[in-house]
Amino acid sequence: MPVAFRENINRCYQCGKCSTGCPIAEAMDMLPHQVIHLLALGMEARVRPLNTPWLCAGCYTCAVRCPNDIDVTAVMGELREKAIAAGAPCPCPDVLAFHRNFLRDLKRRGRIHELRMMGEYNLLTRRPFRDAALASKMLLKGRLPLRAPRALRGFKRWVRKAGRL
Ligand code: SF4
Ligand code: SF4
Repeated sequence: MPVAFRENINRCYQCGKCSTGCPIAEAMDMLPHQVIHLLALGMEARVRPLNTPWLCAGCYTCAVRCPNDIDVTAVMGELREKAIAAGAPCPCPDVLAFHRNFLRDLKRRGRIHELRMMGEYNLLTRRPFRDAALASKMLLKGRLPLRAPRALRGFKRWVRKAGRL
């Protein structure tokens, strides 16, 4: 029994245009059009262990190129949401750690503090000194502020409101 997606993936006729334009295709376990095909056949379980939805950069090239107006980018996002909701093991834990870290900062102040985010991400992924050389160069050139930016005014209210929607 095919699982329902917000996008009508049954409109896909496997032209492959989404995959030929994808800048990350080479690194993916399976190409976007193949993922859509499996989903249309109701084989979401086959897609779960793949890195494809997790490596998707959300660039929307596939969505723009699709002749059937299928938002493949949204499907990739929905696959990630479903995997997290189901508590499935993530094939790309570093990517998941990055997403969570980014969102935590965003929810806190509506802005990203790059230095904190980079440091915490490197700690979470157990490579604390990975960006040390680059960070010190950027600090010297004043491209990496030490202080966290001020929170956007009213941002916490927007987050609370969005949570109620
Ligand atoms: S949105 Fe994702 S799947 Fe689509 S082209 Fe960009 S990287 Fe590839
Ligand atoms: S571009 Fe659209 S119709 Fe073509 S394979 Fe991709 S999802 Fe299917």
